[in-house]
Amino acid sequence: MHSTPENIPPDKVTSPGKSLETNKKKFAVINPCRMCQPMGAVQALLGIEGAMPLIHGSQGCSTYMRFQLCRHFREPINVSSTSMSESTVVYGGEKNLIKAMETMNLQYHPTLIGVTSSCLTETIGDDVDGIINKFRESHFKLNKEELPPIITVSTPSYTGSHVEGYDKTIKAILESLALPPKSEDKNDVINIIPGNLAPADVEEIKHILDLMELDNIILTDTSESLHAPLNGSIEFLPSGGTTLDEIRRTSNSKITLTLSKHADSGGIFLKKRFGVPHVTLPLPVGLENTDQFISTLSSLKDVESIPPEMERDRGRLLDALVDSQAYNYGRKVAIYGDPDLVLGMVSFLTEMGMEPAIIATGTHSSKFSADIQKIICKTGHDPVIINGGDLYDLHQEVKKTGVDLLIGNSYGARVAVEENIPLFRVGFPIFDRVGAQRIRILGYSGSLNLLDQLTNTIIQHYYDEAGYELIEGMEN
Ligand code: SF4
Repeated sequence: MHSTPENIPPDKVTSPGKSLETNKKKFAVINPCRMCQPMGAVQALLGIEGAMPLIHGSQGCSTYMRFQLCRHFREPINVSSTSMSESTVVYGGEKNLIKAMETMNLQYHPTLIGVTSSCLTETIGDDVDGIINKFRESHFKLNKEELPPIITVSTPSYTGSHVEGYDKTIKAILESLALPPKSEDKNDVINIIPGNLAPADVEEIKHILDLMELDNIILTDTSESLHAPLNGSIEFLPSGGTTLDEIRRTSNSKITLTLSKHADSGGIFLKKRFGVPHVTLPLPVGLENTDQFISTLSSLKDVESIPPEMERDRGRLLDALVDSQAYNYGRKVAIYGDPDLVLGMVSFLTEMGMEPAIIATGTHSSKFSADIQKIICKTGHDPVIINGGDLYDLHQEVKKTGVDLLIGNSYGARVAVEENIPLFRVGFPIFDRVGAQRIRILGYSGSLNLLDQLTNTIIQHYYDEAGYELIEGMEN
């Protein structure tokens, strides 16, 4: 991924007590804490059954996406490219785009083609929608058949990160596919926009909705496509996932719930265009956020009690919070990642009695700063907040502040080694461990899993030596 001046984090913010809003532009990003826009777009598209992402740009962009996605999800992932070259940059990418769509349609028969632009094609100003309309008409005249739906998303990485890319793509999918509602088809289905989550977390959300007997449409569902079993067949296009028919029906649903504040454009669109009520909730990590999610679902069902399995998991989570308190209480933590993930995690860390000392996101967001302030004013913590920074900024703050634990993706490993602190891996990408697609942190059960893993990371780093001494003593 290329770091461009527009990637430049506009400011670094610390909490009110140590406010340090520099608003200075940085002219180099060292180890960005974010991915580029098409990466988020591709992840959203991979949750649609049979969809094929097509990056209109040079081949390196699609290679970069595939490389990151394959090593994180450990799945064969296909991302096509219009393979722009020197001459097509000069004369425009129309021919390449048309050829790519023709080839994909003929050879792979996707249910949908998602064309995402790149830095290059945005800079030369290709009229992607115009080219596609022209292609659609000429294809119909020639072949007397319609093309599959083709959606376009403008995703230059100099104006945003994968977080915006994901959000824009969900909105673009709904804009082009959702049909006007019919009063006779209105139903009690809940649209869920989960945000860019691990497949295991999407599965957990579906499990919760099943327990509560709520029919749902997940926008989009990566639980199968990015976590596929080995069964001898190799799928070129995502199998499983949200169907086009489901997306078309989203306008008839009772409500849209968005579980990530930075992925709410699709829900806002459905509300504005079709009057589908929309509620944005925090990512249901930890006790309070999950309580809020479950009570929202209960209110939609008009019931006060929750299923016994969830009641039990909530109790187990409470029990585990008490059990692990001795190891976690007062531990200083530095956390970095996507804004919604970090917000959810910070809320849970405070429930564990930990001290979020440095809170960082690579995607600059005013919502992020405001929400962090809301969490910390309840606890009285005074963290350094790095809003739109990079891992270099984070490392400098870690050196100054000193923390017991680092939480984030694999890119933080070097900081952890240099500072001799453990790194708890969560987020994207995780390429130096296996099982990233199975990391489950949502709901009571996922939070319980997260709490156990995180506490064991602390125990392994800070208590194991004492443990060995104890075992040796017992052996003697
Ligand atoms: S879209 Fe832009 S930032 Fe992303 S890989 Fe391509 S050139 Fe690099």
